[in-house]
Amino acid sequence: MNHAAEMNRLLRDAIAFQSISGHEGPFTRFIADWARAHDFEIDLWQSSNDDLNAHPLAQARHLPLQNRPTLLIKLPGSGDGKSLLFNAHADVVAAPHPGKWSHDPWRGTQVGNNIVGRGACDDKGPLVSALWAMLALKDDAQLRGDVLLELIPGEEDSVGIGTLTSVLRGHRADAAVVLEPTESLPRCASRGGLRFDILCLGRAVHGTVKWLGQDAIAAMRNVLGALAELERDYQSLAPDPLFASYPIARPITVDKIEGGDWQGMVADRCRCGGYFELLPADDHAAWKHKFSADLLQKLNASTQNIQITFSEDYAGHRLEPSHELCIAARDATLDATFNAGTAPFDFAAFNSGCEAGLRAALHNTPTLVWGPGSLAQAHAVDEFVDFAHVQLTAGRFRNLARRWCA
Ligand SMILES: [Zn+2]
Repeated sequence: MNHAAEMNRLLRDAIAFQSISGHEGPFTRFIADWARAHDFEIDLWQSSNDDLNAHPLAQARHLPLQNRPTLLIKLPGSGDGKSLLFNAHADVVAAPHPGKWSHDPWRGTQVGNNIVGRGACDDKGPLVSALWAMLALKDDAQLRGDVLLELIPGEEDSVGIGTLTSVLRGHRADAAVVLEPTESLPRCASRGGLRFDILCLGRAVHGTVKWLGQDAIAAMRNVLGALAELERDYQSLAPDPLFASYPIARPITVDKIEGGDWQGMVADRCRCGGYFELLPADDHAAWKHKFSADLLQKLNASTQNIQITFSEDYAGHRLEPSHELCIAARDATLDATFNAGTAPFDFAAFNSGCEAGLRAALHNTPTLVWGPGSLAQAHAVDEFVDFAHVQLTAGRFRNLARRWCA
């Protein structure tokens, strides 16, 4: 595995693209050019909203897809072995307060072993690990099945949409590795999730006669308290041992609140939105119903005052640690010739939603989540990845492909 200087440069150049959701195009074309220059086969295309809307798994809520291409890079195997597909997302979240960063978020600055910048670990570091593995696998006689990599748009604004563009294009494989920061360890399960919107309705009056009105902002305060109680109530229901190391079984996180129309008025509406993150075996329809019913009951409210809707719904996934893909991944990890200091590990889940649920749900594709870096850095100020971990993970991916595609 040489190429270290080239891959370091590639990661820093990748971070320099401000590929915020909706603006992935230039970055995706840059990676396509890189792949072409290295003689990989590529498929670069633009899906339309109409393509997606025809599919039952398309989400009601997604941004237009114009100028948001999807890329597939292919390293053909020499025979009829099993294929392996890496999945990376081209988009990153914004970096809204660059002054809080110690380095320009859009530069990819090397600080000691670390590369700092937006997307360093989510998802450009993991992408570079997989590209590096594919470079190292070129002309590898052991490789009988194809190794593929799809670079998709839109993961950060609507989970699943980007992967669906590739599924509809006809790309499939015998196993998938969704690239996300997992501290270089393979994870065999991921969360499903629901996006909820809660609207509290009141009656507006002048603030000095507030007893004549109904305060929607005060109602929202009760909603927030009730959501915290629900998170505790759901803690011990139908647990999943792969998630046992995480302190919250089903996180309920409000990320947005808005309410009130005019100063001095009692607010007649207040709205909040957030995510309710589920375990892989949870039945989403049943949980939507339970969440709504439990919330209204706690608030002693009716649907006339509190309206609960769900705008996003994505599947989790779960692969048994005894599955042959998990065994291959474990051996690939313990085998890595780079920095082989990692102790043996027990399989655990990735503590988030990601693209893994889609192919697992549609085609039963055995799927892992895997990549360098940590969720603790993803989306944070001074996001970074340790470049040695990018290299270490590239070695593990190469080992996995040699085992799986042999
Ligand atoms: Zn990500």
